[in-house]
Amino acid sequence: MAKIIDYFNESKETLYSIEILPPLKGESIKGLFERIMPLMELKPKFIDVTYHREEYVYKQKPNGFLEKRVVKKRPGTVGICAALMNKFHVETVPHIICGGFSREETENALIDLDFLGITNVLALRGDAIKNEPRFRAEPDGHNYASDLIEQIVDMNNGRYLDEDLKQCTRTNFCIGVAGYPEKHFEAPNLNIDLNHLKKKIDLGADYIVTQMFFDNKKYFDFVKSCRDVGIKVPIIPGLKPISTIKQLTTLPSFFHIDIPDDLAKEVSRCKNNEDVMQVGIKWCIQQSKELMENNVPCLHYYSMGRADPVISVARELF
Ligand code: FAD
Repeated sequence: MAKIIDYFNESKETLYSIEILPPLKGESIKGLFERIMPLMELKPKFIDVTYHREEYVYKQKPNGFLEKRVVKKRPGTVGICAALMNKFHVETVPHIICGGFSREETENALIDLDFLGITNVLALRGDAIKNEPRFRAEPDGHNYASDLIEQIVDMNNGRYLDEDLKQCTRTNFCIGVAGYPEKHFEAPNLNIDLNHLKKKIDLGADYIVTQMFFDNKKYFDFVKSCRDVGIKVPIIPGLKPISTIKQLTTLPSFFHIDIPDDLAKEVSRCKNNEDVMQVGIKWCIQQSKELMENNVPCLHYYSMGRADPVISVARELF
């Protein structure tokens, strides 16, 4: 199967891609197929599928005590990637995270992907478990995305965890990583964050996808800063059409990003979420057009579980 990086390097036009979430546990994949079908007709170049780690939920027992359970609410990342590839003949990019995985489990997950013919991954650290104050790696897991990249690159070179295994199959993963135009929230400053990003690239990552931003200047400044520290790989802008009034507060608090004044004011003036979605789509189309004029390799749209605003944006542009 094709590597995403080849698409970026070979295409003369701006491509587009979308990130989707696996359905909640208990929902069927048919619903997902139906939601994204209109989008597939617009031929996105690839589809990212997020990975959602376990959460703690508390259930009341008959005796009144609370029982703590560990639940994965959105399993199925790998299965969805394989199903989408088969159904739509499109490249898929499963997100692989450090959180909740030992090195051995990571190796086995990568072997599954290799056997399924999935050759693209987005390598991430993942966030802390909900309600925990900070990220904690598994005892034999990775602390940073850079450690995960090292493991993937080792497998691409035929080196597996068991040193006694000789002449192992070389995997052929193309590796994407996350970048933060407005800085990762844990980093003391943008410069330090950029050095950590550079480490991921120096270790063998092929491209960067950015966190969502609503002001293109943030992206252009970020690309310049990356180039200044010697990062040469494609930097794919991540965009999200805002679609509810609530997102004015949830997006900044969850993703540590700013919403520009003009957009915030327009959204605040809306009477309902239908109006907000129209504002969000218009803003996203404007952002996309300016980025396309600046020859970005690809526009990556976050659906966050709602494909319809992204479909409206893509219809206008592609
Ligand atoms: P890292 O690159 O490891 O960086 C994490 C922090 O540690 C940064 O502050 C960095 O500056 C710092 N750091 C890095 N290396 C070092 C070092 N050697 N020493 C000290 N500090 C260091 N989360 C999910 O759970 N599932 C998903 O599917 C998912 N998809 C995402 C897709 C995109 C495009 C983006 C932008 C984010 C996604 N996330 C996802 C969220 C991501 O997991 C979190 O933002 C997480 O907090 C950081 O992940 P990272 O890969 O950027 O981490």
